[in-house]
Amino acid sequence: GATLGEDFGRAFITLTHETLTAAADALGDLDRRAGDGDFGTNVRTAMKGAATNIENDAPSSYREWLTAMYMGWLGVGGTSGPLFGMFFRDLAKAGSDQGPDSGEPGSDATGTPTLEQFAQALADGQATVQKYGEAKVGDKTMVDALDPAVVALKDADASDAAAALAAAEEAAIAGARDTAESTAKRGRASYVGDAAKGVIDPGAAAMALVIGAARAAAAG
Ligand code: ADP
Ligand code: MG
Ligand code: MG
Repeated sequence: GATLGEDFGRAFITLTHETLTAAADALGDLDRRAGDGDFGTNVRTAMKGAATNIENDAPSSYREWLTAMYMGWLGVGGTSGPLFGMFFRDLAKAGSDQGPDSGEPGSDATGTPTLEQFAQALADGQATVQKYGEAKVGDKTMVDALDPAVVALKDADASDAAAALAAAEEAAIAGARDTAESTAKRGRASYVGDAAKGVIDPGAAAMALVIGAARAAAAG
């Protein structure tokens, strides 16, 4: 199986922070049209929290970088805060704190998981989001971007991390785009029902950006 490189955790989280911060206004606009309008603020608050954690904790391992991100999300309200928080916590668990040569999973110098371990962690994160959020595929949530990404990773050539994550990003973007055609059954967006027809779900769009950050990080 492919490895992700010792810089993957730093690059993944730095790019996630950049891309979500840049998209916060647009994501907030989507939630104004399809939900209750607070998602932009929630994203900005989560990213500010993550930045503070990064500054205070100076992460050096994959797990520490992912922890700074998941703790940022867990400090935020709404539905997305806890769900993205638990999602990134599952991704964090894929890394190792044991250091190189310990024989533990993903134990290069920064405890970075292999592509296979990262793919499994994404699947674990999906299961956690669905367990607590109770959304099914097609309910117009972040799950609609995550599920196709997890499937694409399972089907991908495990020897090429950049190509596998590119396929996952493509699938996540297509899944997010398709949420424009569906009616929300979960979260505040479910209160507006068919009024949100034609509007992409903001959480799905954000999830596609996260998978895109992983793809860019793997590409180096
Ligand atoms: P809220 O819906 O409580 O205002 P946010 O605006 O912070 O929460 O986040 C909205 C996003 O969270 C939605 O676009 C959707 O993708 C996601 N979401 C909401 N409820 C759920 C759920 N039960 N399961 C999975 N994702 C959800
Ligand atoms: Mg909202
Ligand atoms: Mg809300």
